[in-house]
Amino acid sequence: MGRTELLFPDWFVWGAATASHQVEGNNVNNDWWAWEQAGGHIRNGDRSGAACDWWNRAEDDFDLACELGQTGHRLSLEWSRLEPRPGEWNDAAFERYRQMLAGLRKRGIEPMVTLFHFTLPAWFADLGGWTNPDAIRYFSRYVERVIEELGDLVTLWCTINEPAVYAFSSYLEGKWPPGQKSIRQMLRVLRTLMLAHGEAYRIIHALSGDAQVGLVKNFPIAEPARPDSAIDRRIAAQVDRIFNVLPMNAALTGQFRPPLGFGTVTKLMDSVDFIGVNYYTRFLFGLDSENPAGSLTPRLKPGAEISDLDYGEIYPQGLYQVLKRLQPYGKPIYITENGLPDADDDVRPRFLLTHLAQMWRAMQEGVLVRGYYHWSLLDNFEWAEGYAMRFGLIDVDFATGERRIRESGRLYGQIAQTNAITPELVRQYAPEAMPAIFGDG
Ligand code: BGC
Repeated sequence: MGRTELLFPDWFVWGAATASHQVEGNNVNNDWWAWEQAGGHIRNGDRSGAACDWWNRAEDDFDLACELGQTGHRLSLEWSRLEPRPGEWNDAAFERYRQMLAGLRKRGIEPMVTLFHFTLPAWFADLGGWTNPDAIRYFSRYVERVIEELGDLVTLWCTINEPAVYAFSSYLEGKWPPGQKSIRQMLRVLRTLMLAHGEAYRIIHALSGDAQVGLVKNFPIAEPARPDSAIDRRIAAQVDRIFNVLPMNAALTGQFRPPLGFGTVTKLMDSVDFIGVNYYTRFLFGLDSENPAGSLTPRLKPGAEISDLDYGEIYPQGLYQVLKRLQPYGKPIYITENGLPDADDDVRPRFLLTHLAQMWRAMQEGVLVRGYYHWSLLDNFEWAEGYAMRFGLIDVDFATGERRIRESGRLYGQIAQTNAITPELVRQYAPEAMPAIFGDG
């Protein structure tokens, strides 16, 4: 392609992302903890347990992030720690988060904070969680308190992480708590989450002058399993509509028009300052005539390169496609997650380089990407997959707690430190990616 190197702006944020329950350890007071103890829900019977022990030692990993030249970190707050019982606040937990946020800043790492990343306080789950008619009121009370306590340390806020993933996994597939399988409940929860997002946007701006508030959306590419089948094309288009278009349009245009007669929501108009893009993979959808419900089950493209434990196809062009699709909205974008499970790290270097090259390509065409947060900084508790899937730039030995920076972590560090992808770097870390990034030269 005749390029000599891919340069990124010097203000670009290079970071990694984590989420409270996946790294902190001993979050005994949320719905996931109970789900794990109940048994039968997590691969290999794993439990989050002590996880990466961030509640006690996050700073050791901040040191590593800093050593790797990272300038941003996306983390989430654990609602169940901050509000262990309805309306009761835990000062020590707020203090611990203050320490962490200040600790990041001290290391030159700008925090980006997510308010809800999949885990509910046990008391809220007992009240029906997001299906409770007062759910938005409960969430708003929590958001208000968080901004009052921590607002001075944070500018970049994410309201809800992946509303559609949460609604699908917890209320349609039933593989996450509370394990329900109902399309109506799924749509209801998705709608409530969007409303909660809108409220949080309003509260944060009312209380914190310089805040930037975004919604984090996972954008899988959804394609028909058999491109020449009209029904498969329709199914893929419907999945795309409900999963991708509906929630994003709601936040950008204020219009949430779900099927099955759920009311249109209009008060969300323009409720994002930035779009958080989580991009992982492409899925195929097609008619399953023996089990029609299975038509909504994502499939992998036959013959494609797939990451560990069939997590997903490695499809870097998809990131470019998502970014171009969002370009017309004109909002700044952060890639708030992108990564793969790759325990032996033989694919991650190429994955990183090819995805960043696709992001660069979109930026050349005017897409306003402000930063990139790799998922994840370190191996952690991967929900229903337990500890089997390893997403980290840093390898964690969960028996000893020992950390080891993977080659991909070093590669990412060099990119962050130089704001560039050079042919030398590609040759050193993933020579097989040369043609995709620099042509054959
Ligand atoms: C979630 C993370 C998760 C990651 C990898 C995203 O859907 O936000 O919590 O660990 O994907 O599967």
